[in-house]
Amino acid sequence: MLGWGLVGASTIAREWMISAIRAAGGSEVVAVAGSDPERVRRYATEQGIEVAYAAVEELLADSAVDVVYISTTNEKHQAQTLAAAAAGKHVLCEKPLALGVTEAREMVAACQGAGVTIGTNHHLRNAVTHRTMRRLIGEGAIGRPLAARVFHAVSLPTHLQGWRIDNPAAGGGVVLDITVHDADTLRFVLDDEVEEVTALTASQGMAAPGLEDAVMGVMRFGGGTLAQFHDAFTIAHAPTGFEVHGTDGSLLARDVMTQQPIGTVLLRRGATEEPVRLDSATNLYERSVRLFNAAVRGEGEPAATGEDGVRSLAVALAVRQSAADRRSVAVDYGEVLGR
Ligand code: NDP
Repeated sequence: MLGWGLVGASTIAREWMISAIRAAGGSEVVAVAGSDPERVRRYATEQGIEVAYAAVEELLADSAVDVVYISTTNEKHQAQTLAAAAAGKHVLCEKPLALGVTEAREMVAACQGAGVTIGTNHHLRNAVTHRTMRRLIGEGAIGRPLAARVFHAVSLPTHLQGWRIDNPAAGGGVVLDITVHDADTLRFVLDDEVEEVTALTASQGMAAPGLEDAVMGVMRFGGGTLAQFHDAFTIAHAPTGFEVHGTDGSLLARDVMTQQPIGTVLLRRGATEEPVRLDSATNLYERSVRLFNAAVRGEGEPAATGEDGVRSLAVALAVRQSAADRRSVAVDYGEVLGR
């Protein structure tokens, strides 16, 4: 049984990850650390977690903790990962891994150096819809992918608005919140890497002035695919979607850029559309934990590795740079640091 310690008394842990760790098999939540002693104690009680710590160092010193799940605000991920690696704990870290590529690379290197597993919680790779699209493209079902379109513009719920819309220092803004997921899902489904991006951002009234709450742009992949994306906190009535258009067919997925295990995929050739048969959907976060537990036991890799987290972050940062500089930007994946 792997003991998981939560670093961050967060919403994502409460809504998804605590139940996922409990349901995945072979893992249990043994402790939680938060910065406010009163709040973390209340959180632990409400969630049925036995031990609450008011300092991360105390959780890292707990020998019952084998894995830490880091879901604090984004500016804290790096230091907490480095500390966890130094304490010999495996790390599943939330996205974005860090606020910069160099920092993210240091996290991966520290975990490699300490001999612990690091994964990034890009949940969308676990969706049966995206996994099926990746398989079909790999099998040549739509020929050579030429174009992709991702619609991931949502209405940010009130209870998530906080730092996402008013705190750039915490990694707020829609690009680090949502575009980073698009980048990861596109990289996964297309099995290709982004070379260059161009984007425009906007502040449409939800985020504080100077922080973007909407973005549209284009990514160019190494294999030549162009991918268009639209992410926002401000769109209340649009479905989400993911499309890939190839030389021999198109895959059209709807309602797939979400935390829920839902959505449909159609295969379209000419004017003919047929539903793609999907295996039964499983909880995305539960699969993330299951694969992470297996990786810790030496079986396979996390659904999204640390390297995936670095690369998807690098794309998101290039998107932000492009919008700031009003030009196309080549993605800087940074220098791979040695073990
Ligand atoms: P929250 O705002 O809920 O939590 C972040 C931190 O804020 C917590 O660690 C906590 O600090 C503090 N906090 C939370 N609630 C309160 C409160 N009521 N009063 C005072 N402080 C509070 O963030 P999210 O759960 O939305 O996001 C956390 C991380 O997870 C981010 O990195 C985000 O990008 C990622 N995320 C990933 C998702 C995915 O699907 N992969 C989905 C949603 C988020 P402390 O612990 O120190 O007490």
